[in-house]
Amino acid sequence: MSQPYRISGTTGVWEVVIGLEVHAQVNSRSKLFSGAPVSFGDEPNQNVSLVDAGMPGMLPVINRICVEQAVRTGLGINARINLHSIFDRKNYFYADLPTGYQISQFSDPIVSGGEVVIDLPGGESRTINVTRLHLEQDAGKSLHEYSPQFSYIDLNRAGVALMEIVSEPELRSPEEAGAYLKKLRSILMYLDTCDGDMDKGNLRCDANVSVRREGVTTFGTRCEIKNVNSVRFLMKAIEFEAQRQVEILEAGGVIDQETRLFDASTGETRTMRSKEDAHDYRYFPDPDLLPLEIEEEWVAKLRADLPELPDAKKARYCANYGLSVYDASVITAEKSFADYFEAMLADGCDPKLASNWMTGELFGRLNKLGLEITASPVSALALSELVKLIQDNTVSGKIAKTVLDAMLESGKSAKQIVDEQGLVQVTDTSAIDAAIDAVISANPDKVAEYKSGKDKLFGFFVGQVMKATEGKANPAMVNDLLKAKLSL
Ligand code: ADP
Ligand code: MG
Repeated sequence: MSQPYRISGTTGVWEVVIGLEVHAQVNSRSKLFSGAPVSFGDEPNQNVSLVDAGMPGMLPVINRICVEQAVRTGLGINARINLHSIFDRKNYFYADLPTGYQISQFSDPIVSGGEVVIDLPGGESRTINVTRLHLEQDAGKSLHEYSPQFSYIDLNRAGVALMEIVSEPELRSPEEAGAYLKKLRSILMYLDTCDGDMDKGNLRCDANVSVRREGVTTFGTRCEIKNVNSVRFLMKAIEFEAQRQVEILEAGGVIDQETRLFDASTGETRTMRSKEDAHDYRYFPDPDLLPLEIEEEWVAKLRADLPELPDAKKARYCANYGLSVYDASVITAEKSFADYFEAMLADGCDPKLASNWMTGELFGRLNKLGLEITASPVSALALSELVKLIQDNTVSGKIAKTVLDAMLESGKSAKQIVDEQGLVQVTDTSAIDAAIDAVISANPDKVAEYKSGKDKLFGFFVGQVMKATEGKANPAMVNDLLKAKLSL
């Protein structure tokens, strides 16, 4: 077990309590209650229907695909799907909210409960409970950078479907919070219910943080840090915020329940507004929308059609392919990794070799180039060709590393590089024998030393033979033949 995360103050030791509210933009072609397209990068206000603009008399119509995506997400986190749920109006004024309310779900969400298994360093895992998942509309965007005098409004995002996924306050360290966000993102991407793009804000997170003295079982007053858009920032924000609260409490102060912002440039959080309460929003069921009723059979069908998710994949890789828990975690962490791996297996690669070459060799090189696997110049089939050359003894593992470098540089195939550079491994016994004989006759004194018990010299002979064959001799054969000759 790893050490619990603790903050040592001047008057004692403190524990951190964290609950996350994640907003995930639903993958769908049109918005939650209108037919306007969900598409970004267009000119402002191109994708806005009269419903989204809050024109009088316009009526919302629910998008079945968005409901389906929320249900599939609920099933993916092992939650209860509520066959009856309600859409409420959350009332507040903001310039980018033309209706004056956001349609959300308050008392009766579409999904309740659920769990996310988080992966911690060293192969440990922990189950974090999810409180609920509900559907709601996104707001528009105020643009302040175009004019010193005016703010402009872009409603392209207004009405786009979001899933809000709320965790129980069960996370106990910045690392656990980071692991939770990573895992939830991975599940959403496997399900194809959200694209997981945190840079674009399509997945963002509010962190609720409080602290309490070690041993205390009641919760302290929390602060909510809004709209954190990367795992790294989330961890930094929590670390800073917990430390800030400890300092206030140790100085005899109290924590004001408030909403705070994380400033990535300073690594600090600062006050945005003091806490608003639910009654301030005057939630009530939207009279334009009937309660949402869905059918058990439909849910069952969606459940049967779910793809294999990361935890199941991980277990299968360990059981069927003998991968270590660590390697299986790395490969299943993102769907794009697992897809790459499975394409190599389908092409005939040995699973362990495929895993080693992906995570050990390819990932390191892509990292240096700053590339995602989806942009890898070496495709799964190209890496598979190289791994199969190792499998059938055409090249040694050592030579294969230089071949992979050349593949990344030139875009050529493994076979082409091996042919052009004459890298085919020497597995011809007589050629290896000849090299061994030459090395033995050139080093009579070393041979005598070896025979008199200096076993360590074996490595020297291997090195000389490999040198004589320009690294191309099959290392296992060199070992066997050398042992035989030196024991004569
Ligand atoms: P609200 O809707 O007002 O933000 P919720 O009760 O829905 O309040 O809680 C929101 C989030 O805050 C949840 O993720 C929950 O786990 C977390 N949370 C609640 N109390 C605490 C606390 N004392 N410390 C840290 N997190 C908390
Ligand atoms: Mg909240």
